[in-house]
Amino acid sequence: MDSTDIGELRPPDRLLMGPGPSETHPRVLRAFGTTPIGHLDPAFVEMMDETQSLLRSVFRTDNRWTIPVSGTGSASMEAAIGNLVEPGETALVPGNGYFGGRMAEMVRRAGGEPVTIETPWGEPLDPEDVRTACAEHDPSVVGVVHAETSTGVRQPSMAELTDAAHDHGAFVVADCVTSLGGVEFRMDEWGVDVAYSGGQKCLSCPPGASPLSVNDAAMEKILGRETPVRSWYLDLSLLEGYWGEERSYHHTAPINNIYALREALRLVEEEGLSARWDRHRRLSTALQEGLWALGLDPVVAPSARLPSLITAQLPGGLAPGDVVETMREEHAVEIATGLGAFADEAVRIGCMGHGARRGPVLETLGALGETLSSHGIGVDPGAGVSAAADELGK
Ligand SMILES: *Cc1c(COP(=O)(O)O)cnc(C)c1O
Repeated sequence: MDSTDIGELRPPDRLLMGPGPSETHPRVLRAFGTTPIGHLDPAFVEMMDETQSLLRSVFRTDNRWTIPVSGTGSASMEAAIGNLVEPGETALVPGNGYFGGRMAEMVRRAGGEPVTIETPWGEPLDPEDVRTACAEHDPSVVGVVHAETSTGVRQPSMAELTDAAHDHGAFVVADCVTSLGGVEFRMDEWGVDVAYSGGQKCLSCPPGASPLSVNDAAMEKILGRETPVRSWYLDLSLLEGYWGEERSYHHTAPINNIYALREALRLVEEEGLSARWDRHRRLSTALQEGLWALGLDPVVAPSARLPSLITAQLPGGLAPGDVVETMREEHAVEIATGLGAFADEAVRIGCMGHGARRGPVLETLGALGETLSSHGIGVDPGAGVSAAADELGK
């Protein structure tokens, strides 16, 4: 490639209705584009405090240790696991999806021993299985994925899971990357010790600063570690210097990502967290009615279905990759193929944050109807839009 041919940045128009990133709210984008100031400037320090306070609110926690980690959701995930798990310790991880597998890999790299709680993809964990596994393996950490984006499973019975872990003296780490700010999550009430999330799913932020909250008991374990955390960058005992009382330099905060996250969290406050959960539920129900009207089939039982990410089986043996491609190339709508056990038969459609609105949902269903039709499926291309509009009109 001749570098003189590289033109001005002009990404194609896309409606982002996949597993993330989601549509960015225009106000968040404006905040992102605001001129950076120094990360130790008292004015920025005040924004840090505000961001932390807003984060506590969206996590439903009083944890002092609530910060945005620099990096995407995987960075806050690795901060959670890498700090909490010490070499030689056992951590239980869920076997019901892709992100439980990533947890296992992070536990291994932290020097720990992951033990997978075997559960079929598409189903949630059973608290009784966690209890049994705790008795058998004596873990110091139990990992749970509250919103498994690879399958579209929401983990119900979170409080029962944390009870099972706590009865055995284990700490609970919850992945709420695809639920925070869109699907009911109550950190303190449910007894979650460490929770991490990301910006670009239900919070509708550009990726780059990722919520993390750690309770006092977990922080005590972390600060009392016998060996230093293997990652210098994500070591919470060092980050305490910057986000805690001292405000000393550790690494340069991603200023604009913090601006954006702060604005995204202000939007959550304005709407109200429970109103936002309701909106996601309502728009997701409409999306689902539209999908079933187009002949797709749900993969996950209603009791464990995640509102923010729907996995749906395609009709007529259509290849997910072909549908995703037509949706992108002909309709400028991004959705994703299934993963793992559902890779060959299902698509994944997000309903997150700024995408969880009437316009984006109807546009997605309209495009999908036309896509199915163009691939030879005998379906009324408008059936999805009608069903969803009916549902929203109820
Ligand atoms: C997206 C996601 C992550 C990883 O976040 P990145 O921002 O892609 O690093 C982790 N867990 C779950 C459940 C996710 O959906």
